[in-house]
Amino acid sequence: MAIDKVLLASPRGFCAGVEMAIKALTWMVRAFPAPVFCYHEIVHNKVVVERFEALGVVFVDDILDVPRGYPVMLSAHGSAPEVVSSAQTHSNFVVDAVCPLVTKVHHEVKVRVKKGHNIIYVGHEGHEEAVGTMAVAPDSTHIVESGTSVENLPDFDGPVSLLAQTTLSHRDWESILEAAQRRFPSLSTPGRSDLCFATTNRQGALMFIAERCDSVIVIGSANSSNTRALERLAGEVGCKQVFRINHASEIPYGLTGTVGVTAGASAPEELVNTVIEKLNPRSGVEELRFVVEEEYFPPPRELRPLIHAIGFFAKLGLIDSLNGSSSDDRSIEASEVLTTLQ
Ligand code: SF4
Repeated sequence: MAIDKVLLASPRGFCAGVEMAIKALTWMVRAFPAPVFCYHEIVHNKVVVERFEALGVVFVDDILDVPRGYPVMLSAHGSAPEVVSSAQTHSNFVVDAVCPLVTKVHHEVKVRVKKGHNIIYVGHEGHEEAVGTMAVAPDSTHIVESGTSVENLPDFDGPVSLLAQTTLSHRDWESILEAAQRRFPSLSTPGRSDLCFATTNRQGALMFIAERCDSVIVIGSANSSNTRALERLAGEVGCKQVFRINHASEIPYGLTGTVGVTAGASAPEELVNTVIEKLNPRSGVEELRFVVEEEYFPPPRELRPLIHAIGFFAKLGLIDSLNGSSSDDRSIEASEVLTTLQ
């Protein structure tokens, strides 16, 4: 391939929510003998999922598939309230690794429905996050994916609120917001949109490099909503060639000139490194930083006593399960953790 240069978007890849979830599942694997169960893919990335499967993690799509008493983690996308209570009945140890920003949307649904609002929820039908959020108030929540579906909504009695899946593309959100405001002039929306900082930043970083690229590679899985949003955005801002790939072996032949590279919020940095290695640009890699991302989400509260105990016993030399890494969750990066899991 005759690639001249790679423009690398920053931020890219793991967000604070994914970091938290991957590290949380790692702590579970360290603390409990296999199998550890996880409701839904911990994040939407094949490499991450397969690495945990190799360690004895079993991913299930029905909480009733978890044998009674086994430890279970609920994924970062957030779970329906009945799934959370069913997990608590089934298991002696449940860790809910829902991203706090998804919890915030669940909370908005609850509070607004309590005040009598009808909720229009902008999200992807069938996506785990959308399914979990809709289940908070199924009778009052109506999912839409486009401006046209807003037109097809019934005339509601009472106030109407517009909420959203955290990982939408900004353009999709704005066009549906406009359509909803036209249809329901006294529409209520949260002070800050539900689109999360990680989604916003990755989209901003991509737009920052897109104009200078002959083609753009977006690394991430097809079922990752924020990855698909990046892929669509690259096309919308005029990139003629946009490729979403799972890993380096899927890089198309014949790329030339300047190639932009970014990664969805659930794609590990090791995939980015192998893609760059394969592109092997003549004039090297230029990383363009759109914004510095410093958000950190602490481990789920159910895990904190366990993490302290593991650190304590490791310090006493009573266990060696830390494999040389720190017990201070903040100082560990999920990408590093993943490489040690191989
Ligand atoms: S993409 Fe946003 S909402 Fe989803 S896990 Fe990451 S930080 Fe949380």
